[in-house]
Amino acid sequence: MSQRRRSNNRYAQKPVRSTKGKDSFSALDVELAKVAKQERVLAENFAALNLPGSVIQILTKANISKPSPIQSSAIPDVLAGKDLLGRAETGSGKTYAFGLPTLVKLAGKKAKSGSPLALIMVPTRELAQQVNDALAPVASALNLKITTIYGGASMQRQHQALKRGVEIVVATPGRLEDHMRQGTVNLNDLEICILDEADHMAEMGFMPSMTRILDLVPRNSQNLLFSATLDRGVSTLVKNYLKTPALHAVEKQKQSESNMEHLAFIVEKTEKVNIIAEITKRPARTLLFVKTKYGAEKLANNLEKSGIEATAIHGDRSQSQRNRALSDFSSGRKRVLVATDVAARGIHVDGVDLVVHVDPPQEWKDYIHRSGRTARAGSKGVALSLLSSNETRAYAKMQTEFGNQVTPIKVRTKDAAVTAIATSGEVIVIKPEAVRPNSIRRPDGKPKNKRNFRQFDRKKAKVSQTR
Ligand code: AMP
Repeated sequence: MSQRRRSNNRYAQKPVRSTKGKDSFSALDVELAKVAKQERVLAENFAALNLPGSVIQILTKANISKPSPIQSSAIPDVLAGKDLLGRAETGSGKTYAFGLPTLVKLAGKKAKSGSPLALIMVPTRELAQQVNDALAPVASALNLKITTIYGGASMQRQHQALKRGVEIVVATPGRLEDHMRQGTVNLNDLEICILDEADHMAEMGFMPSMTRILDLVPRNSQNLLFSATLDRGVSTLVKNYLKTPALHAVEKQKQSESNMEHLAFIVEKTEKVNIIAEITKRPARTLLFVKTKYGAEKLANNLEKSGIEATAIHGDRSQSQRNRALSDFSSGRKRVLVATDVAARGIHVDGVDLVVHVDPPQEWKDYIHRSGRTARAGSKGVALSLLSSNETRAYAKMQTEFGNQVTPIKVRTKDAAVTAIATSGEVIVIKPEAVRPNSIRRPDGKPKNKRNFRQFDRKKAKVSQTR
């Protein structure tokens, strides 16, 4: 690993203290924990953060008027040109925290062909698309161009966009490197470089790639790094690539204080499928988590066979299939989404009030991540675990660590506890754009004209991805 940039930041020399937990805590973690606990005065509105009227107008249209804690504290530092280390989870509003000031700083500038001015690196295609969708209207109001660069999508289209000149690139590291190798993009003009969910990128094996990319970022670039944890080499990135970073952290909401209810059913292996079928008949959205791609596909197919509109998202599905699955789920056309952990990273769908851990998560972080797809932005949600009797101990230990008291109960199909879940949740009203027009369907239900059908799906995916 090249260490071109030896950091002189004030944390670089602090000793690393290990604790008995799974992760080792560095001095930086301790500092971040302190920052998270600090009382802060929240900005009343976005004008108080010196964002221009054209940006505020777009936020107002999206019903966003009061800056979240991470936005209140981070936006002024990014505008002031400081490097930044932020600890904030998905759902905290971190995309705008780094995105809005970045766009405002670039307003009025024009990128040369193949030389973007800002780079936002993210772990997954879904997150790239979501960051792009969140920032695109603001970019457009400021006369800036933004594009996504991720695997599974046309290299040629990405090349064309880069060639035309684009100020902001939202990229996954692997595909970005492909373009760098082909010479279709260079980082010579980069003014701002952002790593979002750096810990997830590290977890997915992108550390060497991130390091190679960061080594090519100009020395005077303003670098921002967001990460929920600093393990898996993330603290080394901080030391080597952030210059005396401003620290920003928002206190993790304790599970017990949130709007999330945790439940656990102990089920016989032979009963599990029936219980899932019963639960997923509920009128509201249900998000199911399983361990494997095969498991996700099989479960979604089985549910569909028993008449439940279900779809799946996992690593073996193409980008357009993933987009369609997400779009169908968020529009309400499919009430059930079966997902694997990696595929679900960073996805955001409003109105999910039940997450079911069909297979137990590999580690506690995954439990938080999975469950965090529900009870978002003040709404209520349930995280239900389906356990076999030999999984109850690990489950109880994990919940105790969170400060929750959950007593798993043994259930069979049609038991009152199962029925209560199966009848819970508000009936989803399917958004009009989610109904496929009859005109492009044959009487047998198949599309009349495949091209129209595909176009329609693409349009629909775009609509529902815009948050
Ligand atoms: P993020 O943490 O960036 O993934 O944002 C999560 C969700 O919060 C997105 O749907 C945003 O549109 C929404 N959001 C971001 N900032 C605010 C805010 N200040 N007030 C209300 N909602 C917000």
